[in-house]
Amino acid sequence: MSLPLKELINYGKTQLERAGIEDADRDARGLYCFLDRLDSVGLMMHWQDVLQDNQCEAYFELIERRAAGEPFQYITGTQEFMGLTFAVDPSVLIPRQDTETVVEDAEELIQKGTLRDRPYGKPGAIKEILDLCCGSGAIGISLAKRCGRLKVTCSDISAPAIATARRNAAANGCKSVRFEQGDLFEPFSGKLGRKKFDMIISNPPYIASSVIPELQREVREHEPLEALDGGEDGLDFYRCIASEAAGHLHKNGVLMLEIGFDQGEAVTEMLRETGLYGDVTCLKDLAGKDRIVTAKKLKKPLDSAVQP
Ligand code: GLN
Repeated sequence: MSLPLKELINYGKTQLERAGIEDADRDARGLYCFLDRLDSVGLMMHWQDVLQDNQCEAYFELIERRAAGEPFQYITGTQEFMGLTFAVDPSVLIPRQDTETVVEDAEELIQKGTLRDRPYGKPGAIKEILDLCCGSGAIGISLAKRCGRLKVTCSDISAPAIATARRNAAANGCKSVRFEQGDLFEPFSGKLGRKKFDMIISNPPYIASSVIPELQREVREHEPLEALDGGEDGLDFYRCIASEAAGHLHKNGVLMLEIGFDQGEAVTEMLRETGLYGDVTCLKDLAGKDRIVTAKKLKKPLDSAVQP
């Protein structure tokens, strides 16, 4: 069956609409662009072309995958984040726009020593950072790219995620980013036990286990559960990070965490209660929802601090 491109894409759109895909038109066009390596202008220029059987079949295969709920980004294998292209696959979460806010705040802090224009440390104090639970490496690699001499280490429990993150660092020209594989701070216990950072930044799994079945099909069925599931109340990773991060930070070192929209209070409280951090601050995302909690390691823990 040969079809004009215009009809082919219309057919793709209809299939996606029938499958309940939200942005059927965008995805139908996007998948063709991916297949034929076109941008949206190129697509318009070929709009009247008549396509051969094999091209139509290749397109239908992509449409079928998308109609079955596979995320667009896993089909094309990439996601744009902070103006960079990141390779993504089912071993890593697809970087979200919400996380761009985290990177923007971190960059401001690293470059200027301020957080949304409020002084939050000395300019130039942050020279070395750890991106904990790095997944595709989106946070660490974007910061390495944007902040000249910044030293960046990315770590994750998942070996395939680290492999993807390494590829992303290379593809984006960030050769000096280092990678460690292991559970949370485990890679920084043995040989690297004395290593300390000026900032630890993390977007850990934070969805409550009971909420996972309610997530969008794309997320629930295709994205890595271990990158999403934060335990019974979604806060398991923050508990561990709150108690352990201070031991891996220099004095005045900063902890910056992405959080779920309803976790601001709990995470802020949790960090305060440790007695290890001061200046605990919750920041909102572009939608006006709580999205980030930052804290600074105190020079001396408060008396209330639980001694390990
Ligand atoms: N923001 C992601 C989502 O809502 C979750 C990210 C995470 O658990 N770290 O799907």
